[in-house]
Amino acid sequence: MKEKNLPRRINFITLGCSKNLVDSEKIMGQFRAAGLNVVHEDKPERGDVVIINTCGFIHDAKEESVSTILEYSSEREAGNLSGLYVMGCLSQRYKQELQENIPEVDGFFGVNDHRQIIETLGVDYKKELIGERFLITPAHYAYLKVAEGCNHHCSFCAIPLIRGKHHSKPIEELINEAKALAGKGVKELILIAQDLTYYGLDLYKKRALANLLRELSKITQFRWIRLHYAYPAQFPFDVLEVMNEHPNICKYLDIPLQHISGDLLKSMRRGIGQNNTEELIHTIRRKVPGINLRTTFMVGYPGETEKDFNALKDFIQRMRFERMGVFAYSHEENTAAYQLEETVADEVKQARVDELMALQQQISAEINRNKTGTILPVVIDRREGEYLIGRTEVDSPEVDNEVLIKTSGHDEKIGEFVDVRITAASDFDLYGEFSQPGL
Ligand code: SF4
Repeated sequence: MKEKNLPRRINFITLGCSKNLVDSEKIMGQFRAAGLNVVHEDKPERGDVVIINTCGFIHDAKEESVSTILEYSSEREAGNLSGLYVMGCLSQRYKQELQENIPEVDGFFGVNDHRQIIETLGVDYKKELIGERFLITPAHYAYLKVAEGCNHHCSFCAIPLIRGKHHSKPIEELINEAKALAGKGVKELILIAQDLTYYGLDLYKKRALANLLRELSKITQFRWIRLHYAYPAQFPFDVLEVMNEHPNICKYLDIPLQHISGDLLKSMRRGIGQNNTEELIHTIRRKVPGINLRTTFMVGYPGETEKDFNALKDFIQRMRFERMGVFAYSHEENTAAYQLEETVADEVKQARVDELMALQQQISAEINRNKTGTILPVVIDRREGEYLIGRTEVDSPEVDNEVLIKTSGHDEKIGEFVDVRITAASDFDLYGEFSQPGL
C-alpha cells in the first residue's frame, strides 16, 4: 500500500439499484481492508473524499444522479471536500459530457473501473479481497450479484449499453462469497443479476441457476434465499424444482413482464408473446403452490393504445400478482425504441401508472386481509418509533410489504426470525404480534 496521501475519511453515496449497492460494498471493502475510515452516506465532514456511485438508465434516475453530483461539487468548490469522484452507470454512459460540464469533480469512472478508483485514492487493489464486502445492508441480509450485464436486446433498455454483455461469475467464486457473507451473520441471501435465469449460459454453455441454488441452499446459515429479476422468455423450469426441494429457497420470484399486449411485447423485443406469458405464469403457480410473484410493468411505450392499456389492466386483474411495480417509459438515446415516435404524453403515462397502482392496491389489500389470523415467520429488520418492522418470506427489502409489530421492547429481535400472529392488514402492510408466549 502506498503510504502517502491517503484520505482521512471516504464517504460513499450509492444511488440506484441493489447491483450498484454491491459494487459500493466491494470497493468499500478494499478501502476498509487497507485501514481507511470508510462510511456510507454519512453527514459530510470537512476534508472528506466523497465517491458517488450513480444510476443512469432512465430519465428520473439520471436527474437524481446529476443533482447529487452538483450538490457535492459545490462543496468541493468551496473547499469542504478533499476529493470528489463519480462512478457507476451515469458516469459510464455520459463520461465525456460530465467531465466537460462538471469540472469540480476530480475523476469519473465507469462501472468496471473498481481497480482504478481504488488506486486513484492511493490504495493497492487486492484481487483476493473481491468477496470481502463492507455491508451497507443490515447485518442479517445481503445481496449476491451472480452476473454482470445482459445479453438481451429489449428495445427500451439502456442497461446493455452501460453494463455490457452478460458475464456469469463461476459457481465456486459465488459459493466462497456467500460463505463469507454467512460468516458475517447474513441469514437472508438475495440473488440479483440483470437476468438471473441466463446465469451460466456464457460460462457453462447451459443455464445453471438451479445448480447454483442447490449449492447455496447447503449453506445452512441462510434461512432464506431469494431470487430477483428472472427473464420470462426461455424460463428454466428446473429452478422451480429446486425451490420445491429446498425450504430455504423462498417461494418468491421477481419476474419483470413489462406488458401483455402482443404487439408491444414484439416491439419491445422481449422474446415472448401474450399467450406464452400467460401460460408461464400459470405453470409457475401450478408447479410451486403458494409461490408469490413480483412483477414490473411499463406503460407509455411508443404506440401503446388505450386498447393495449386495457388489455394490461385486464391481465393484472386476472393474474392478481402478489407484488407489482409500474414504470413510465423513458425515451433513452441509443436504444432501439429511440427510433420510434413517442406517442403517449407524459400526463397520460403518469395517469396510467397511477391507475395500475390503484388497481394493485385493491388486489394487495384483498391478499393481505386473507392473512389476518395466520401465524407467519417474520425477519425483524429495524425499529421505527413504537414498531418493530419485519418482513415475511414473500417480501423483499425496500420494494415489498412489511409487518409492523407494536412493542416498545425486544430490540434484541432485530435480525432474528420470529413467529408473528397477523392481527390486521392495510393495503400494502400487515400488523401483528409475537406469537410465542412471553413475548
Ligand atoms: S433483460 Fe432487462 S436488463 Fe436485459 S435488456 Fe431486457 S430489460 Fe434490459
